[in-house]
Amino acid sequence: MYQDPYQRRYRKLRVSLTAACNYACTYCVPDGKKLLKAKHEMSVEQFIQAVSLIVESAGIEQLRITGGEPLLSNKLEAFLVGLKPLNIPELCLTTNGQFLEQKLPALLDAGVSRINVSLDTLDPVRFKEICRGGDLNVVLRGIDRAIESGVKLKINMVPLKQHNADQVVPMLEYCLERGIELRYIELMKMGHLAQGDGFLQEFWSMKSLLDQISERYDYAPTQAPVDSTAVRFQIPGKGEFGVIANESKPFCRSCSRLRLSSAGFIYGCLSNTRRHYIADLLSLERDKGLASMHQILTNAMKDKQDLNFTGETTVMKMIGG
Ligand code: SAM
Repeated sequence: MYQDPYQRRYRKLRVSLTAACNYACTYCVPDGKKLLKAKHEMSVEQFIQAVSLIVESAGIEQLRITGGEPLLSNKLEAFLVGLKPLNIPELCLTTNGQFLEQKLPALLDAGVSRINVSLDTLDPVRFKEICRGGDLNVVLRGIDRAIESGVKLKINMVPLKQHNADQVVPMLEYCLERGIELRYIELMKMGHLAQGDGFLQEFWSMKSLLDQISERYDYAPTQAPVDSTAVRFQIPGKGEFGVIANESKPFCRSCSRLRLSSAGFIYGCLSNTRRHYIADLLSLERDKGLASMHQILTNAMKDKQDLNFTGETTVMKMIGG
C-alpha cells in the first residue's frame, strides 16, 4: 500500500495507449503541430505486463484507457483481451468519439463500463476551429449508439472564453435531454499553455460558467465521491452536471491517480514533469519486477503536488489528461 502524509493512495490508473491523435485541439497542441505516436511505443505485451505489476503492487480499482486518441491504436483489442485475467474492478475509456460507433461493441464485450466522450461544442464551425480534425456528426452518432447500449456515459467539455463559452448552456441542455452527465473541465496550464498568456486569454472559470447556467436553471451542490475530481451539481427534475475545477477548487489533496504513458513512463502527477521509466523492468523476473515497481511507485507518490495544480509543460496527449 502506498500512502502519503495526506492519506493519498493509488486507486485509479490511466493508461495512454498511444500519443497519436486525429485531433489537434487548440488548448492541447501548439499551432501547426501534429500528434504522433511515441518513437518507442510499448508493445501490447509490455503494456499488459506493466499494468499487471502496477495492479499487483498498488491494488488499482479502476483503469481508464486514454491517449492521444485510444481508439486510433491498433493495440486496443489485444490490450483489452490482455486485461481480462487481471480482473480490474472497473474499466473506463476517454475518447474523442470519432471511432466510438465502430469500436463500441468490442469495448462493451471487453467489459468497459464507463465511457467519457470529449466534446467542446455542438456548432460544426467551432468544432473545426477547436479540434482541427474530426467530424462533429460522427461524434454525435457515436454518442447516440453509446446511449442506446446503456453504458455509463459522460461528456467532457473544456469551456474556452473566446471559442465556446456560448456553448455552456446548449451543451448542458443537450446532455440533460439525453440523461448524460456533462463535466465542464476548467482549462489547465498544460503544454504550450504553461507559459505565455494563452491560458489567461481562454480560461473560463467555474464561477463564470455557473453564472451562465444560473440565468436559466436553479441548481444545488450534490454529493461526489471523496477522490472525485469534480464538483457536482443537481438541477432538480432535470439531472446533474459537474465541474472539474482544477484552478477554482483544486483537488490535489485527494488525488488517487497514477498515469502510464505509451512510451513506458509512470507519472505520479499531471502537474510535474518528473516521470519514471519502467519499460526496462518489464523483462525482469516477476519478483524483481515487482520490487523495482514498488520503488518507482513510492517515488512517484512523492511527485504529487501538495495543494493545487500549478501547471506543467508536459503535453496532455502524452499522459492522457
Ligand atoms: N483523445 C481523448 C479525448 O479527446 O478524450 C483522450 C485524451 S484527451 C488528452 C483527454 C481530455 O483532456 C479531453 O477531454 C481533453 O479535452 C482534455 N484536455 C486536454 N488538454 C487540456 C487542457 N489544457 N486543459 C483541460 N483539459 C484538457
